[in-house]
Amino acid sequence: MREEGLLVVVSGFSGAGKGTVMKELLERYGNYALSISATTRSPRPGEEEGRHYFYKTEEEFLRMIEEGGLIEYARYVDHYYGTPKAYVEAQREAGKDVILEIEIQGALKVKEQYPDALLLFLTPPSAAELKRRLEGRGTEDSAAIASRLRRAAEEARGVEKYDYVIVNDDLDRCVEETHRIIQMQRRRADRSMELIRRIQAELEEMRI
Ligand code: 5GP
Repeated sequence: MREEGLLVVVSGFSGAGKGTVMKELLERYGNYALSISATTRSPRPGEEEGRHYFYKTEEEFLRMIEEGGLIEYARYVDHYYGTPKAYVEAQREAGKDVILEIEIQGALKVKEQYPDALLLFLTPPSAAELKRRLEGRGTEDSAAIASRLRRAAEEARGVEKYDYVIVNDDLDRCVEETHRIIQMQRRRADRSMELIRRIQAELEEMRI
């Protein structure tokens, strides 16, 4: 019997280091699949179609919504972002834990549709560190950094609905902690009822 994979949502302030943590998690452990979102924003230098995002025009994106091809979508700093449904479902059926790296509005929509999704919120240790990381990335101009910092304050609203908050002060520690939390979710009793029922049935048989 193969267990269906978990749906894991990772959010956090822009600049919290989500991308780096996820990349490292996928390199260290084989059981994860990262969902690739569709977006209407343009690729940043070094980003590739189908690897970082599926880059869409606004018209194409609206068509995906209409056709029911997205699990959720949200607008973030003037652009649409959304999670394509087909890939996520196929990977979960294959037993992979699928990670969605999405912002908070989308995360809460996922939780409504999939109440057993695990919601993780990643944060740097301080606001100063957040600003430093955004500037250090060198991919946004100062106006874009300012809007992302403003948005960061809003991003924390709703965080109490998440399952865990993970502080990213040290990459190695943060990756291991994230992995452990996901593995623990797999062992939750409500996900293990099939196994328990099988053992109960086997015990019944033994009594004969
Ligand atoms: P960025 O432009 O920095 O790649 O992403 C901006 C924000 O959009 C990040 O917080 C990222 O997690 C979020 N995001 C990326 N893909 C999706 C998605 O499919 N749905 C939602 N709701 N947010 C997304």
